[in-house]
This record gives sequence, C-alpha cells and structure tokens, in this order.
Amino acid sequence: MKAFVVTVDGPSGAGKSTVSRRLAERLGYTYVETGALYRAVALVALSEGCSPNDDNGLGKICKHLELRFGNSPKGSRLYAKGEDITERMRTSEITMLASAVSARPVVREHLLDVQREMGERGGVVFEGRDMGTVVFPGADVKFYLDADLDTRALRRYKELAETDEANSLAEVKKAMKKRDEDDSSRAVAPLKRADDAIRIDSTLLDIEQVVEAMVHYINERTK
Ligand code: C5P
Repeated sequence: MKAFVVTVDGPSGAGKSTVSRRLAERLGYTYVETGALYRAVALVALSEGCSPNDDNGLGKICKHLELRFGNSPKGSRLYAKGEDITERMRTSEITMLASAVSARPVVREHLLDVQREMGERGGVVFEGRDMGTVVFPGADVKFYLDADLDTRALRRYKELAETDEANSLAEVKKAMKKRDEDDSSRAVAPLKRADDAIRIDSTLLDIEQVVEAMVHYINERTK
C-alpha cells in the first residue's frame, strides 16, 4: 500500500498532538509535531535575546538550528544542536513566543523546506496549522480537528496543571483565544481549514473515537 502523507491541522487544544501520535502508531507511520519546530526557534530566540520582530536575527537562528526529533521511553523528544529541549519549549512564555515568530515569513520559509523534506517518502502524519493548506497542499488525506473554546481551554488547563505552571482556567482560555486569533489572522499561512480537509469536532469525542474516525476515513481512501 502507498505510504500516505496525512495532515492534521486545527486550533490549539483540539487534541491534535495526542490524536496524531496515536494515529501514526496505528498506521505504522512517523509522527511530526511541527509546532515543536516553531517552539525551538522561539526558545533559541529567547536565549539569544533576539526579538520576534528581528527578521535578520531570526534568519540567522534558522540557518544554524540543527533540529532532530528522537524517541525515548518518555515519548518523542526534540534536540537542538544535540541538546534535549523538549521540556523547556513547553512553557507558556515559549508558547506565545512561538506564535509570534511563526508569523515571520523568514521563519516559515525556512521551516517549509525542513518539513517538506521530512514528508518526501510519505508514511508521515504531520500535525500543525498549515499542513494541509501550505506545506502539503497535495497531501493524501487531510483532517481539520476542532472543538469549542471552553472544551479546548479546559483540556489545556488540565495539561498545564500536571506541570508546575499555576495558571487559572480563565487565564488559559484568554491566552488560547489570543493565540488562535493571532494564528488565524496572520498574513502568511494562517490557520484555516483546507477546502478538501475532513473536519472533525472533538468536543464530545474522546481520543480513541477521533482516531477511529480518522482510520475509517483513511481506509475509505485506500479502497
Ligand atoms: O502546535 P503548537 O501549539 O505547539 O504550536 C505553537 C505555535 O506554533 C502555534 O501557536 C502557531 O503559531 C505555530 N505553528 C504554526 N504552524 C504550524 C505549527 C505551529 O504557525 N504548522
């Protein structure tokens, strides 16, 4: 069977990461969390004191990124120049900064090539914001995963409560709303559903139900 490129886009907190990881496991595919690439750029920018508006500085950072995904018993990891940055790139500060740097064309152009290279041989589930619209417009199967804002905020709040970040539910919701608005309104590669993407609303579905629905659509496509 042909190894597909499968894309999963949608707003934050819709369950994209968990669902995409499980979907990739079910299909025997590689899972690529593209948000991690933007987070890595944000983390390096912060540590080097580079402003998210400094295109020159961001361009240099991108040129020297040296990112590598890896696996460990704790799940998938991201390394920048050999250093494991998986935990450090998940803070609320990096989350907002990732959204800011992701609006800069210089960053998107660089990561476009990186992502396309990873998808060359197929057999990959790509999760992000512009996978089905910009990076892989010809993807074999495209999903757009959504859920209502309250549900997404509550999920993210519970996730953050597992780490030591003490944000209130109201704060999490406000930050999420702002990030989605920024991601959807930026000039380059905004978050939006591709015309040919299958929309799944996960508000009332659990992870397994979403994965089942996706596997069903993919099987239909291979008939
Ligand atoms: O998916 P995650 O929440 O980790 O993404 C962090 C940020 O990176 C998003 O808010 C978005 O601004 C950006 N991003 C993007 N395009 C992608 C993936 C993420 O612009 N394909």
